[in-house]
Amino acid sequence: MLKDKTALVTGASRGIGRAIALALAKEGAAIVINYVSNRSLAEEVVREIEKTGGKALAIGADVSNFEEAGALVAKAKEVFGSVDILVNNAGVTKDGLIMRMTEEDFDRVLEVNLKGAFNCCRHVVPLMVKQRSGRIINITSIVGLVGNAGQANYAASKAGLVGLTKSLAKEIGSRGITVNAVAPGFIETDMTSGLTEKMKEAAKENIALKKLGTPADVANAVCFLASEKAAYITGQVISVDGGMSF
Ligand code: NAP
Repeated sequence: MLKDKTALVTGASRGIGRAIALALAKEGAAIVINYVSNRSLAEEVVREIEKTGGKALAIGADVSNFEEAGALVAKAKEVFGSVDILVNNAGVTKDGLIMRMTEEDFDRVLEVNLKGAFNCCRHVVPLMVKQRSGRIINITSIVGLVGNAGQANYAASKAGLVGLTKSLAKEIGSRGITVNAVAPGFIETDMTSGLTEKMKEAAKENIALKKLGTPADVANAVCFLASEKAAYITGQVISVDGGMSF
């Protein structure tokens, strides 16, 4: 149970972040629902949590902006008193083959996916160090572990998150803070909705369980890492991919 804990979930207005927010709320945590543009969707997630007696607040912030990430963390602390769990989930794709990938598309993906996580960690860690406890969970991707043609920017950002995770785990473990990553495989969300049925069928062929994952599958792993049961786990990357990448 996560009663009396506060979780900040970036990019929680839709998809995997939304499922993580709902799952952590079900465990009793108060949730900060971060979004960048979809305020009404974020407020729907808040209402859904409040309907079941939970506490939640939507806060808009572009996590790639250092000051906005700082204001997000400060507001979370002001309203709920602490940030005990940080889930760096906000992410974007701007796919393209290297021959055609623009500098802007490379930079933007790195700014949101990798620097966004750094920005939030940079502002949350001092709070966690002070309270001598905390959980940081970074949502990477199996693409960051094995690469993917057409996603050089995205794969680099997600591989970077693995390095960030392992380094912070070593740096702040002595302060009672665990840092882990979850690497989803192919999960059905807006991010993957552009793929044709034919592409999805082809993807399933490479998945041992022969089906795509759901946001709830990822949320379950995050809940475990946030729980007391994962107290002795840090610096790890847990793949939630139906057996796509081993
Ligand atoms: P999604 O449906 O596209 O949702 C993305 C979320 O991130 C939205 O809530 C969006 O907010 C938010 N966001 C985007 N840019 C942001 C920024 N600059 N600052 C703050 N929030 C921002 O994505 P998803 O599929 O749920 O993916 C969630 C995470 O899982 C991502 O890190 C992704 O890379 C990772 N992942 C996904 C898959 C998959 O198959 N879907 C696989 C592996 C890893 P708005 O609604 O306001 O735009």
